[in-house]
Formats: sequence, structure tokens, C-alpha cells
Amino acid sequence: MSRFWSQHVAGLTPYTPGEQPKIERLIKLNTNEHPYGPSPRALEAIRHGASDALRLYPDPESTVLRNAVADYYGVAPEQVMPGNGSDEVLAHVFNALFRHGDRPLLMPDITYSFYKTYCKLFDIPARLVPLADDFSIRPEDYLGLEEPPAGIIFANPNAPTGMALGLDQIERIARGNPDVAVVVDEAYVDFGARTAISLIERCPNIVVIHTFSKSRALAGMRVGYGVASREIVEGLLRVKDSFNSYPLDKLAIAAAVAAMEDRDYFQACTQKVLQTREYLTRELESIGFQVLPSKANFVFARHPGHDAARLASGLREQGILVRHFQAPRIDQFLRITVGTPEDCERLCNTLSELTRQTH
Ligand SMILES: *Cc1c(COP(=O)(O)O)cnc(C)c1O
Repeated sequence: MSRFWSQHVAGLTPYTPGEQPKIERLIKLNTNEHPYGPSPRALEAIRHGASDALRLYPDPESTVLRNAVADYYGVAPEQVMPGNGSDEVLAHVFNALFRHGDRPLLMPDITYSFYKTYCKLFDIPARLVPLADDFSIRPEDYLGLEEPPAGIIFANPNAPTGMALGLDQIERIARGNPDVAVVVDEAYVDFGARTAISLIERCPNIVVIHTFSKSRALAGMRVGYGVASREIVEGLLRVKDSFNSYPLDKLAIAAAVAAMEDRDYFQACTQKVLQTREYLTRELESIGFQVLPSKANFVFARHPGHDAARLASGLREQGILVRHFQAPRIDQFLRITVGTPEDCERLCNTLSELTRQTH
């Protein structure tokens, strides 16, 4: 604790992102980045945007991006909240929607760990709701609560399990808690789950969060957005404009719009990732791993006979990075991003060797 710090800084536990190694030629399957690059049209838009026009501030409303998202999902532009990566949108959501004194925010015990970090930052009590033994979210656990919570948040598909709830189950949770925001973080939704955006009209308390970092292969640009009722987005924009009027730079806006418009490229790349996920799952199972059913661009797998931390470090020695969480219930799992077929083959060959060695 420095005497220059504000009091609350001493109590923060910052989120730890997966490693971004400086060494090249590693096989990087640890942060769920896309194995293929962004749409060539997005790259062209960035090149085109690199001009004298950068002396001017970007559009504070990111209007063209809000319009593109609104078009794509059939909602109004006023229902779209843009942000510098979905993590920033999430920060504004916590700040604007979840600060209700002592009322706790409900979230699964196993989910995106950044939610707990934001709870600390914004002084929001968190109540962790255990996942079922099969690692699924049980909607019943979020219904019939004695006191209204501050809100509910979960990722769908969930991270790091990759498992998804159906829309009927999300609707049950939202309808059971009509007076609080129910936030569905859909960072991985494009890899096989259905978006809850269509529920917003019936359930105006639902907030859906999307990112360009995963399925649009633009993690390096930092673009995300939320979709919600106009009323909720208005509150989020108030917070945004009290923090940073220009969260998205001109190049990011141009790239995101172009990526969104290039539907063919998006579909082709998504298909390749889905095919590789099936291949990776089969291979891991043949080595003896149990693999949770994934609707994301990663799989969550454990080997009954081998310690996950040791496997992760064995892989690392061979230049392959995967994610291992030192957390209760999941410390025997590896989270493995679906890479190119070649990367996945190298991974599986290495795991096959590591699991053949006696321990
Ligand atoms: C990757 C991820 C994010 C963050 O996405 P950015 O847009 O890169 O900030 C948010 N939520 C979940 C569940 C994620 O996996």
C-alpha cells in the first residue's frame, strides 16, 4: 500500500489474463484467440483509415458501428452500447447496473473470473452460485430468491467450461428476476450457441455482451458492445460519457464494421473452427481425456490419470501454451483453444507422449 493510493486500491485483485509470450513460434492455445486472421476487408479498412484524418477525434457515438450491429441483429441503434473491448462494456455494466448497496450480484462459482475483479473495483458484494456436478448452470438456483439481488451475470457459453444454456433457460432466469439486470456475456456465442438478443423485446432486463476478439479475430483492436433495452443503454452511455467519450478509435470502428459486413469470411472461418473442435475433441478422448461438451472455440478437458498442472508445464516445455486455472473444482482441467488443425495435431501428439510416460 502506497500512501499515494486511494484506499480501495490496496484491496483490488486484478484479473490475470493468459500469457502473451514474447517468444515467437510458440503454439498459443491459451487465450482463445482466433487461429485465422481478421477479414481481409477489415485489414483494408484499417489501411484506408491510416491517413491525415487521424488528426481528428473519432465519432464519440461510434454511429456506423452501432448501425452495423443494429442491422445485423434487427434491433435499434439506440439499443447498442459500444466499448473498447467487451471488458470495458462489462465495467460500465457493473458500474451502471449492479451497484445497489448490500444487495449481492449473483454469478456461477465457475465463470469468467473478471466478474469478481469488477465486483471488488466497484464495491459490489458477489454471491457465487455453484454449478451442478456436470458443470452446467442450473436456472432454478437463480429463481425464487428471498431478496432481490443486485443483478445476475454469467457467460453463455460459459467460460471456461464451454457449456451453453438454451434460450428457454435464460428466459426463465430473466423472467424470474424482472426487476434486476440479467447480463449474458456471449463472447463465444458464434461458435454454436444461440444469442439471447431475440429475448430482449420480451425480457427488457436482459443485457447481451458481445466481443470482436474471438469469432471476429480482432482481439488486437479492442472492440466490444452490449445490446439491451434503450433504457438500459441510456444508463450505460451516461457512465461511458462520464469516463471516456472516445472509447473506440477510428481504425477500430472501421475494422469492426468491415468485419461485421464480411459474412462469407466469418462463416467460412467459423466453420473451420467448429470442424477442428470436433477433431480436437475426438483426439483428446482417444488419449483418455474427458472433454466437456463445448459450444465455444476452446475445450475444457481433464485426464483421470495425469495432473493438469504437470501436463500444462510439460506442454510448455514443448512450446505449447494452454490455460490451467489453479482454482477449486477445475484445477484438474486444461482449457485448450481450438487452433489450426496443425496446431491441434501437435498438441495431441505431445499430450499423447506426456500421458504415456509413467508418473
Ligand atoms: C474474452 C472474453 C471477454 C473479453 O473480451 P474483450 O472484448 O477482448 O475484452 C469477455 N468475456 C468473456 C467470457 C471472454 O472470454
